Amino acid sequence: MAIKVKNPIVEMDGDEMARIIWHFIKEKLLNPFLDMDIRYYDLGIKHRDETDDKVTVDAANAIREIGIGVKCATITPNAARVREYNLKQQWKSPNGTIRSILDGTVFRKPIIIKNIPPAVSKWKKPVIIGRHAYGDIYKNVEFVTDTPGKAELVFTPDGGGEKKIIKIHDFKGRGVVMGMHNTEASIRSFAKACINYALSEKVDLWFGAKDTISKQYHGFFRDIFAEETEKVKDKFRSSGINYRYLLIDDAVAQVIKSEGGMLWACMNYDGDVMSDMVATGFGSLGLMTSVLVSPDGKYEYEAAHGTVVRHYYEHLKGNPTSTNSIASIFAWTGALAKRGELDNTPAVVNFAKTLETAVIETVKNGIMTKDLMLIAEPKVSKYALTEEFIDAVAERLSKKL
Ligand code: NAP
Ligand code: MG
Repeated sequence: MAIKVKNPIVEMDGDEMARIIWHFIKEKLLNPFLDMDIRYYDLGIKHRDETDDKVTVDAANAIREIGIGVKCATITPNAARVREYNLKQQWKSPNGTIRSILDGTVFRKPIIIKNIPPAVSKWKKPVIIGRHAYGDIYKNVEFVTDTPGKAELVFTPDGGGEKKIIKIHDFKGRGVVMGMHNTEASIRSFAKACINYALSEKVDLWFGAKDTISKQYHGFFRDIFAEETEKVKDKFRSSGINYRYLLIDDAVAQVIKSEGGMLWACMNYDGDVMSDMVATGFGSLGLMTSVLVSPDGKYEYEAAHGTVVRHYYEHLKGNPTSTNSIASIFAWTGALAKRGELDNTPAVVNFAKTLETAVIETVKNGIMTKDLMLIAEPKVSKYALTEEFIDAVAERLSKKL
């Protein structure tokens, strides 16, 4: 008998190889076992184009209403993609749109499997990255100046008041200038999201910045983190977790030397860069999960990788592929476990955990896609094709249920 999932889940379909995997997962690992109320939004590039991207906004609003979403990787079009798919325009990144509607923070957590040793051999537990997803260089203004001149920072208070003018630099020749900002509200909700996530995962919270150099800008972040963590210090203590502020360069060194097992809160750019380093350090992008958490507790789960376009082109040529579906499967198990937790339906949580175990045991038994075969220890002699891997998981799962 199918397990009933009490409340709805928002499903967002995607593009290319990720979409192909997505459909296998539903057909072989979910639909045979679950009775789900799915609110389906097709975020495939064609349908986004047809709806003038309204479908992305509708999906994000549905997550706001329903609380839980799960998303397949999607194309963020560039000029080449506009030609390839004959698009009306270069639509914005769906993840960016959803993130700004939910005002969320993205947490990336690797899946650890015994026979897939991380490149950093000391890492035994996940290094989770929380990336602040607003402002800094991602909302900057900048220009190259070709002539000598004076660059200044000018602040004009609303409703009059004295202007504040600070000299940036007197240029004697060519140069480059940038202005960037952040807001207290955004940093505070980032700090709160990190605190909530650290509490729910029972891991220490680290925050690193360069406040020795940037006393005001980075110092502003440090102070807000200090205030917000101070408010929850009793909760942290009773959960046995700690908050640690470090200089960003020290944080990098300490993370590499550690066993893992912390949430590393990063400013926007640090999170962008460090999440790729951590993903590579743990093995494959195919093992990296991602969840967007809003300050009011809405969750959107996905794989951290993209549409795996090179594999898709092989697939279109009729060639076999070996694309790792694990992160996409864990997007679903993450969403289902959270749904079950919020609905108070242990059978659903249990299904999610059982599916995760089936995936991990399959890999431990030497059945894995090529990306993992290349780094597996002990070595395995052959890799599974995309569908073969999912079939092996399905077989193991049905034996367990
Ligand atoms: P990608 O799809 O993550 O793939 C980059 C490379 O990483 C692949 O070519 C493959 O290496 C390896 N890889 C990633 N996921 C894998 C998996 N599941 N199994 C096996 N290998 C995997 O990134 P991309 O090629 O830069 O981007 C492709 C498209 O995805 C772009 O249109 C981009 O806009 C979009 N994208 C979407 C999201 C999202 O929706 N969240 C995120 C990132 C990118 P090999 O080729 O060496 O096998
Ligand atoms: Mg990056």
